[in-house]
Amino acid sequence: MAAAAPELDASTQRSFPRLKRYDYIIAGGGTAGLVLAARLSENSKKSILVVEAGGNRIDDDNINVPGFMGKLWGDPNYDWNFWTEPQVRRIKFTLT
Ligand SMILES: Cc1cc2nc3c(=O)[nH]c(=O)nc-3n(C[C@H](O)[C@H](O)[C@H](O)COP(=O)(O)OP(=O)(O)OC[C@H]3O[C@@H](n4cnc5c(N)ncnc54)[C@H](O)[C@@H]3O)c2cc1C
Repeated sequence: MAAAAPELDASTQRSFPRLKRYDYIIAGGGTAGLVLAARLSENSKKSILVVEAGGNRIDDDNINVPGFMGKLWGDPNYDWNFWTEPQVRRIKFTLT
């Protein structure tokens, strides 16, 4: 049984692409997802939808300035905060 499509607010509906069907749907607009989308879009006959859960950080100095990297760790505005189980061979460190 197909899952119901999630409700989109009016602003998202206005900006959402009008196509109802896509040749490719890529979950996650990170490094791999956007490289894949760029390569697939070289074929102009194909339609591609990239679904990204995070915010648009295109002009965000916290992202663009390498020296700010450390202050983003653990900040829920930037970090999904997914942690591993303690790594027994790494003195019980957890990794994000
Ligand atoms: C602070 C930091 C600095 C780094 N600096 C460098 C560097 O200088 N050079 C370098 O080569 N590498 C660097 N890396 C590593 C590099 O960022 C990663 O290896 C690379 O981004 C991994 O690519 P990815 O496509 O697998 O994942 P990501 O780039 O993390 O992409 C995954 C995307 O999926 C999205 N997503 C997650 N869940 C969902 C969902 N349910 N629905 C939709 N979207 C979803 C996420 O928001 C994210 O945008 C750095 C990493 C960090 C954390």
